[in-house]
Amino acid sequence: MAKAYEQTNFAGKNMKRRTAIKLGALLSGALAIPTLMSNTLPPTETNKKQPNCGYVKINGDKFELYIFSDGHMLLENPQPIFAPQINSTTFTTELKRLYLGNKGIDLAINIMVIKINNKTILIDSGMGNHFGESQGWLLENLQNAGINANSITDILITHAHRDHIGGLITKSNTIVYPNAQYHIAKAEYEFWTSENPDFSKSKLTDEQKKGTIAFPQKILNIIKEKLNTFTPGDTLFSFINTELAEGHTPGHTIFTISSEGKSIKNIVDTFHSPLLITNPEWGIEFDINFEQGIKTRMQILEDCYINKRLVMSSHLPWPGLGYIDKREKYYWVPLYYSTPTEIKL
Ligand SMILES: [Zn+2]
Repeated sequence: MAKAYEQTNFAGKNMKRRTAIKLGALLSGALAIPTLMSNTLPPTETNKKQPNCGYVKINGDKFELYIFSDGHMLLENPQPIFAPQINSTTFTTELKRLYLGNKGIDLAINIMVIKINNKTILIDSGMGNHFGESQGWLLENLQNAGINANSITDILITHAHRDHIGGLITKSNTIVYPNAQYHIAKAEYEFWTSENPDFSKSKLTDEQKKGTIAFPQKILNIIKEKLNTFTPGDTLFSFINTELAEGHTPGHTIFTISSEGKSIKNIVDTFHSPLLITNPEWGIEFDINFEQGIKTRMQILEDCYINKRLVMSSHLPWPGLGYIDKREKYYWVPLYYSTPTEIKL
């Protein structure tokens, strides 16, 4: 169970650095409902036809929460990124056994947005359009849900990998969310902005390391004037609990959003595929500290299983919502829901 939430007004700690935020700029009318109705059902509020535009909406008692798609990343040859020390036949047999296909591993990019009172909070920004057309869908999907980029008040950065912060800037290096304040774990910020980020416990090649470092450094520099740091364990905005999930990166932070006794835990990059839920010890080279990544994965699996948590993940199959169950091994149970866009928490 996550520790009891402190009633810390995180935003208040940083008031002197905040700029005035113009709120209430949400677009209305973008969710126009087509007049075409089912032939068999009368047109009620609940069966009106709605477009599924790359998001699902979860209605909590105190907040609205959305999961948006920023696209996906196909790893055609998932080994050795996944399971570098596992025999390739064992690896492909396991993919097959878990019905995960045999054409590489396709990672969804799922983004959480929370609307509460006068705040619209984005957790990460996706890849943006820097690396091809299979990513960078977030902005359009936000608009389809009636959320304008100008209305985003805060952005929580889980960690500074490019598929989580690339969407903060355009290709010409301008800021995408002009009214937002940014929040990142202090350890994460310090790691990427240090002179020599320590990759000694990673399995990446020197070439891969170079590519991994330059992009986050550029983005963190562009947004630094509006960047606030927190320490995992802090409670943000009185209802978002932060927790360090070390290993993937030094400050990789996961978030539990709670209201009226219900909660959803955003476990971010703890698992890049259901394969790693069933085989957490196989590991992934994306983790900067490979062995710590395995330990953290095991802890989070047990916590989510024992506490029957509803979890959301950045890269599990769209929309990344579900539960962890266990029968000898852990396995992924996608959230059961029947309507395309609406879920009641
Ligand atoms: Zn990621």
